[in-house]
Amino acid sequence: MSNRTFTMIKPDATSKGYTGAILDQIIKAGFTVKAMKWIKLSEEQAGLFYDIHRARPFFGELVDFMSSGPIVAAILEKENAVADFRELIGATNPANAAEGTIRKNFAASIGENAVHGSDSDENAVIEGDFFFSKLERF
Ligand code: ATP
Ligand code: MG
Repeated sequence: MSNRTFTMIKPDATSKGYTGAILDQIIKAGFTVKAMKWIKLSEEQAGLFYDIHRARPFFGELVDFMSSGPIVAAILEKENAVADFRELIGATNPANAAEGTIRKNFAASIGENAVHGSDSDENAVIEGDFFFSKLERF
């Protein structure tokens, strides 16, 4: 079990001014920030990041959305980081997200759902490497 995960605060949340409140909830839940950047993805970069979903019907919508505005990308550290962070963000569809989760608090829909969280230790490493060089993580 690794102690790191990767997250993005998605364009819906950054554009609504929720960045600070989401980071505050993440830090209060016990995660420490090991790398962070404010960045806007191109359509090509968003497509590469979500390559695993390329065949899904919502792929075009997902790429358009994820490249529509700035995001915050971050590597987070905590014991049991991947599972604990998925619990903190809640279900993919905010309508099904538990009370008090980040998606319940800040997400509007299954497509525009405020945050990303890695789904495995392996993907946390791949996703962190997608955004950060060795010089940018601590
Ligand atoms: P993420 O990977 O962003 O943390 P997740 O792991 O909860 O989310 P995935 O199944 O990996 O969910 O889907 C990736 C993203 O694709 C979702 O967060 C959402 O933005 C979008 N998505 C998933 N299902 C749908 C859908 N049915 N319609 C529109 N967008 C969707
Ligand atoms: Mg996912």
